[in-house]
Amino acid sequence: MADPSAKHPENAPGKFYVDENCGGCQVCIGTAPENFQMTDDDDHAYVVKQPANDEELEACQEAMDSCPDEAIGDDGE
Ligand code: SF4
Repeated sequence: MADPSAKHPENAPGKFYVDENCGGCQVCIGTAPENFQMTDDDDHAYVVKQPANDEELEACQEAMDSCPDEAIGDDGE
């Protein structure tokens, strides 16, 4: 379970976020490329844009379910 108090500062404000448990596997980038991005040094992923339609929302939920480090949360603000 991701922790909203440990989310990376790069995350776009809103529901979805990536926290400090992210190991940088890039699965979320492949699953929801509109919404997740790696940092410039490829250290970790972050939410670059909150989902803007049902398709992106589904992709973000799938990314959250697929994250091997359980580093994606949907209880952000
Ligand atoms: S799927 Fe999870 S561990 Fe992999 S890059 Fe995305 S947030 Fe990080």
